[in-house]
Amino acid sequence: MTTADSQIRQELIDAINMTVASGIMSKSNHGNMSLRLPGTDTFLMTGLSSFSLVSPDNLVVLDLEGNLVEGEIQATNAEVIQMHAVVYRERPEVGSVLHTHSPFATAFAVASRSLPLFYEAQIRNDILEGVPLAGFGPRGSGESIANISKVLHDFDQIKGLLLENHGVLAFSNDAKGAATINMIIEETAQLALYAEGLGGPTILTPERAGAALKRRDDFGAQGTQKA
Ligand SMILES: [Zn+2]
Repeated sequence: MTTADSQIRQELIDAINMTVASGIMSKSNHGNMSLRLPGTDTFLMTGLSSFSLVSPDNLVVLDLEGNLVEGEIQATNAEVIQMHAVVYRERPEVGSVLHTHSPFATAFAVASRSLPLFYEAQIRNDILEGVPLAGFGPRGSGESIANISKVLHDFDQIKGLLLENHGVLAFSNDAKGAATINMIIEETAQLALYAEGLGGPTILTPERAGAALKRRDDFGAQGTQKA
């Protein structure tokens, strides 16, 4: 434990525990998560492929090109290093990346469908361009990374995307934020699938989205009120 102190390792573990506790993981508990190390060109990432096995001692440090700097990484996770690194390279404001196979969201990915704006909680969490779909490529391959990169360029405000035939990639300025984005994406997908049986979900128009955002921001500006 040299380049990442115990506090920052714990921040990543806490966000993983929060993700697992929320019930959004697929049954295998497969996932990987990373956290940019402040003030460096490196990030901390899970070295094992199941969130059931993660501990502060089996995290690894990588540089933004994806080279291993510290620790040991399982082959299964080495395959997906670039899936994290590409987000850090292209989005300097991103501090954490989370990849899961959350089942409702992954159902959309398997159906090759993006997730438009259906749910007010998306707006409240700054998911203002929906959740686009990045085209298929074997996990972590050049083809897959190019498809992720294209989506990051095409949609400059997104907080996450769906990986076709694969899963979810969520990101935010910190680890708790990335976990929250994955939760909101999963809730949206679950609600949209339920709504399909009721005639289909209603798209949030730009007018409705704008009104929801304004109301959130107006109340946020007021702060806590006391009687
Ligand atoms: Zn995966």
